[in-house]
Amino acid sequence: MRKKIAVDVAIVGGGIIGCATAWYLTQRGLSVALFEKGTVAGEQSGRNSGFVRKQGRDEREMPLIKRSLDLWRDIDKQIEGETGFTVAGNLAVAGDEAKLAAMHSWLAVAKEFGVGSEILTNGRLQDVCPRIRRGFLGALYTPTDARAEPELAAPAIAAALRRKGAEVHENCHVQELELSGGRVTGLVTEKFDVKARTVVVAAGLWSYIFLKRYGVFVPQSDLKISVGRTAPFDHGMTIPSWTPDVLVRPRHDGGLTIALGMTRAADFELTSRSLRVAGRFLPTYLMNRRGVSIGVNGRFFENNRWSSAYLSSDPARYSEIRVPHVPPNVAELEKGTRFARTDFQFDPPIRLVDSWACRVDLTPDGIPVIGETLPGLVVATGMSGHGFGLSLGVGDSVAELIDRGSTTIALDAFDPGRFRHRYFAAPQNVL
Ligand SMILES: Cc1cc2nc3c(=O)[nH]c(=O)nc-3n(C[C@H](O)[C@H](O)[C@H](O)COP(=O)(O)OP(=O)(O)OC[C@H]3O[C@@H](n4cnc5c(N)ncnc54)[C@H](O)[C@@H]3O)c2cc1C
Repeated sequence: MRKKIAVDVAIVGGGIIGCATAWYLTQRGLSVALFEKGTVAGEQSGRNSGFVRKQGRDEREMPLIKRSLDLWRDIDKQIEGETGFTVAGNLAVAGDEAKLAAMHSWLAVAKEFGVGSEILTNGRLQDVCPRIRRGFLGALYTPTDARAEPELAAPAIAAALRRKGAEVHENCHVQELELSGGRVTGLVTEKFDVKARTVVVAAGLWSYIFLKRYGVFVPQSDLKISVGRTAPFDHGMTIPSWTPDVLVRPRHDGGLTIALGMTRAADFELTSRSLRVAGRFLPTYLMNRRGVSIGVNGRFFENNRWSSAYLSSDPARYSEIRVPHVPPNVAELEKGTRFARTDFQFDPPIRLVDSWACRVDLTPDGIPVIGETLPGLVVATGMSGHGFGLSLGVGDSVAELIDRGSTTIALDAFDPGRFRHRYFAAPQNVL
């Protein structure tokens, strides 16, 4: 006999967006059930670089990221848990004059939104980050930006949700939505039949395939990003920083997270899904040619196999897709550690003790997709490589939308229907 659940809101996906949404819904007194096909934060939310930053953002995201930062400041106290949130600033080093000029022009956005960012040049850069080598043209710096721990954050929120009596089910794949009279009225998982007034799809990279069968179109592509960490050591770094070649973030455990910098190529591995939406990403690709390495490899067939398993109603087929294994690009990570050594002058050279990779979901205009798509169905996805920082603001706004039917922060720019009217739409971020 299948178990039955009835709640106000059912959530598909236990990444940071699903967990944050669930948290702010429970804060409003709504009953919630969250379903995760693998483990909470098993994909992007647990494997990212841990930057929580306002600087360099697309202007359209500024109100949301500012709200998010405010919420991050309180989250540990609220959930009685540990996300690793620390206000430590963010430093982005320009690789050329054009980047520096773009950073300069972004200061107008900072000013408009009351963010105290500055451009550091010459000795001022070394004053702020003594480890950084000389010779860089300059950097954008925002002392009020922050970092948090991807491995801790969503699991800590999920633990708090459970303590509050919310249903959080892992290893529980959502197979389909239930519709009645043109409305979404619940969902079907591999274990439960769920009735809900509203369903939220926060399925990360899987959102495209989950939603397509209901006529909801979210154009998503993806890039593979590889990340590593060092063991704890006396590294002397305090500010999460990125240069053109390497990203270095001090970790809660005393080590460093290392990933590739702003202009190093992330891996774009062709799939039938990305081919279907490729034209829409042309402006983004042309803007970031140096930042993408295109490959045609086994991922094409793997993705077809995973998609077919994902849409299947046979749980025996889910093992490969519960927490997908994504092999890191070891050669690129080794380059990253070499750049870390030169750009931040570590001596002796640093060594990675662990590495991993994950595919980050992207929309053509590089900003999220948030809003109601069918009666009773809200989508919060397409975080485009910076959803960890945005997550609490997104969760709070989605909860408000469901509870009150409107939001304090305007979500118009994130309208899921925008891609129907606009084929090409490039990102407007600087970082
Ligand atoms: C390497 C890397 C570095 C990054 N660095 C940063 C950074 O420094 N700062 C920043 O702000 N952002 C960063 N990001 C982006 C950030 O991690 C993502 O934007 C964010 O985590 C997206 O959260 P999400 O909840 O939407 O997606 P996810 O974390 O991918 O979660 C979606 C979840 O939905 C589940 N799911 C899907 N379909 C179903 C189903 N049918 N049933 C049940 N469950 C389902 C999946 O299993 C998954 O766990 C980075 C991303 C990567 C990959």
